[in-house]
Amino acid sequence: RRNEDYAEPFEPIALPNGRNVELLANINILSDVHSAKRSGAKGVGLYRSEFLYLIRNSFPTEEEQVVIYEKLLNQIDNVVFRTFDLGGDKILRSASSSNEKNPFMGLRSLRYAMKNRDLFKIQLRSILRAGKGKTIKILFPLVAGPEDFLEAREVVYEAAGALEAEGIEHNANPQIGAMIELPSSALLVEEIAEHADFLSIGTNDLVQYVLGVDRTNQQIAHLYDQQHPAVLRLLKMIAEGAERKGCPVSVCGNSATDPQMLHFFIKSGIYSFSVDPRSFSDVRAVLQEIADEMIE
Ligand code: PEP
Ligand code: MG
Repeated sequence: RRNEDYAEPFEPIALPNGRNVELLANINILSDVHSAKRSGAKGVGLYRSEFLYLIRNSFPTEEEQVVIYEKLLNQIDNVVFRTFDLGGDKILRSASSSNEKNPFMGLRSLRYAMKNRDLFKIQLRSILRAGKGKTIKILFPLVAGPEDFLEAREVVYEAAGALEAEGIEHNANPQIGAMIELPSSALLVEEIAEHADFLSIGTNDLVQYVLGVDRTNQQIAHLYDQQHPAVLRLLKMIAEGAERKGCPVSVCGNSATDPQMLHFFIKSGIYSFSVDPRSFSDVRAVLQEIADEMIE
């Protein structure tokens, strides 16, 4: 597709309280960046990098990853690289995490990355290499609290140190953030925010873990309530905790596509969202409406 197909880029909307409403796109694979740009997104708020591994059912080499991440960064500014979020319902046939009785409670996400540290380091090296001379953001999935966040961050520093020692050009100063999608990290949000450069709320998982409702189980789908009072209370706590620590927070889960939830988020002091490109124009319209109401 050519540039003419791209929607008017979404510029942050200034609110009377001095805050800006921001909307970015979620992407799963490199080619999604075109739909993201067509929808008007100026950045990627969540790059689900694990799809790169899932579509080939293996771990790409460092060189292969560098090429793909560079292509992405050349096509759009401002990318949040979520490190591979495998396990749960995203199982590699070749990986050791299969055959778990309870995969969503198991060797998943950051836990999986820390256990498979060599693969984690390769991905981090690739991101740092691709990000040389640019601003890059690295986001860890399923952080449980400050400790695992700091341990994972240390692996980023080790990867940067190794690249430095090897004389390989890289970005030595990425912003490093935590996904808040476990009740534990929601409750410890201030302790995490003290160390994190940014936070991203994964409501898809947060809802499942707060309510104990498997997000993939159709039999209990009616119990998966994104607006459950317990979920709302926890979201409010996250917003307030992040605000107290002055840590930027955004929402990248599906709740950010729900108009009622968008009202709730903005009322709670969350102004940054990232949604799938196909929801982008609807969400954009709702955000504009909310902003217009506040400006009137
Ligand atoms: C989430 O959990 O809300 C999220 C954005 O990540 P994923 O859907 O990939 O688990
Ligand atoms: Mg998640």
